[in-house]
Formats: sequence, C-alpha cells, structure tokens
Amino acid sequence: MESADIKVYEFEHFKKHASIVHGIFTRTGGIRKMNMNPFVFLNQVHGSDIKVLKKDDNDLPENFQPGKETYTADSIVTDMKEVFLVIWIADCQAVMLYDPEKKVIANVHSGWRGSVKNIIGKCVDKMILEFGCQPGNIMAGISPSLGPCCSEFINYKDEIPETLWKYKIKGKDYFNFWEMSEAQLMDKGVKKEHIENMEICTKCNTDVFYSFREEKTTGRFACVISMI
Ligand SMILES: [Zn+2]
Repeated sequence: MESADIKVYEFEHFKKHASIVHGIFTRTGGIRKMNMNPFVFLNQVHGSDIKVLKKDDNDLPENFQPGKETYTADSIVTDMKEVFLVIWIADCQAVMLYDPEKKVIANVHSGWRGSVKNIIGKCVDKMILEFGCQPGNIMAGISPSLGPCCSEFINYKDEIPETLWKYKIKGKDYFNFWEMSEAQLMDKGVKKEHIENMEICTKCNTDVFYSFREEKTTGRFACVISMI
C-alpha cells in the first residue's frame, strides 16, 4: 500500500493476513486516494463507548449503508467485510484488533483519557461478548502515538488514578502509555506475541506524523482497517 507520494505504515503481523487491509496514514494524507470505501467515521469524544456493527443485526435498517452515519463513540467493532473503520489521531493511540478465527475487527481511539477508562480492555470484552471471540486469538496493533519520552503529566495526581501510577517513569512525571495499553490487552487474555507496538513517538516525529503536544493546533492522521 505505498505509492510515490503517500507513505503508509503497516503492522507486520497484520500484513500476513490476506483477509484484512489496514494502514496508518501520515501527514501526507491520502486515505481517499487508496481506493477504500465505504469509510466509517466516529465522532471521537475521549469516552469509552463502543459502536458494534453486526452483519446479522436485525436492528440494522434494510437499506443500511456503512459510512452513511457518523457514530459518537471511541471504538468500533464489526464482522462486516468492506467496511473501513477510521480513527483519527495526533498523539493518541489507534489500537487495531483482529480475530482471524471469528473474522472480527476493531479500531480503538485511546488517548490518556481512554487509557484511564480502559477502552481497549472494554473493546476486547465487546469482541468476546458480541462475537464469541477468544482473546487468545486476537491480534493487536498499537499505532504511532505519544511515547514515554514525551508523555509528561505534571497534574497526574488529578488526572491519572493511582492504580496506573506503576506506568510512571521513575523519578519523572512521565508515563508509559504504550506499556499500559499492552498490559490492558494482556489483562484480557491477548497474548504478548500477538501485540505489535510500533513504538514510534508522534511528538518526536512531527516530520511524519501530527502531534498535538508539539504543535498545539494541528491536523490528525488516519488509521484505517477493514476486512476484504
Ligand atoms: Zn517522544
């Protein structure tokens, strides 16, 4: 998924599965040039609501067209093919999930508020509850996002619950949200070897990615996954 002027990052373990396509687009954008359709966008509000799109859902309108509606949620799960789930980020994480057995995908927007609410763990729960996924089969990818090098939280005592202080870098007011997300996945039974963390810090790489912290007013880059 690379063309001359559009650079797209991909997870190595996802690339081995022909039934999904995915990509993390950079500042150069280009999602609309990638021949992906229809996109499903979320109105992301740093909450923990999860939208479920099920192909055999009787509540779906007869003329249902994915992408027609924008859902207010910070995660979306589906077993539908040809539905491109989009998360926009700048420093927050997009965490993509894929169960190759049950053929279910998810895309999660998890910033520090999402980490505090454990939206990642809640999304794994949703995959188990709604689609019968076994966490041991679920593969996960953690996008470029604010790294432990740059995650300073001077008000962490007000913002981050004490149970998560174990992810604080010793002697500093910095947190390792990458490690926190891995732990939230593993707590739900996702295997360590099924988690691919790009470990690319957006604030350290503003030539490639957008960073809210570095640039204040900024754009966001798209993280997309679909089954085909
Ligand atoms: Zn950094």
